[in-house]
Amino acid sequence: MKYLKIYAQRMSDKKSSPVWMYFIEKKDDPSKCQCSLCPSDVSRGKPDQLRKFSTSLMITHLWAKHCIEYDAIEKCIEEEANCKAAAAGTTVKATAAVP
Ligand SMILES: [Zn+2]
Repeated sequence: MKYLKIYAQRMSDKKSSPVWMYFIEKKDDPSKCQCSLCPSDVSRGKPDQLRKFSTSLMITHLWAKHCIEYDAIEKCIEEEANCKAAAAGTTVKATAAVP
């Protein structure tokens, strides 16, 4: 959970976060989003602080209400982090191998 919160802060304001797989942005109220797994609306932050919206409350909602989906997101984020680490490792090795 701690790792996901850091990730949510880093990914704040961006739609690339995997949590968006389970949420639909509300066109009439951008400060909220609709959970696609239950009828709940989840707040994304205060309406007067549009730039500070983050996915942390969405992640918290999944964690509290939808354990299976939360696990899937967590795996997805971990795999993404591993892929980036692997890619970075390959780049470093390739550079080192050049005479
Ligand atoms: Zn829900």
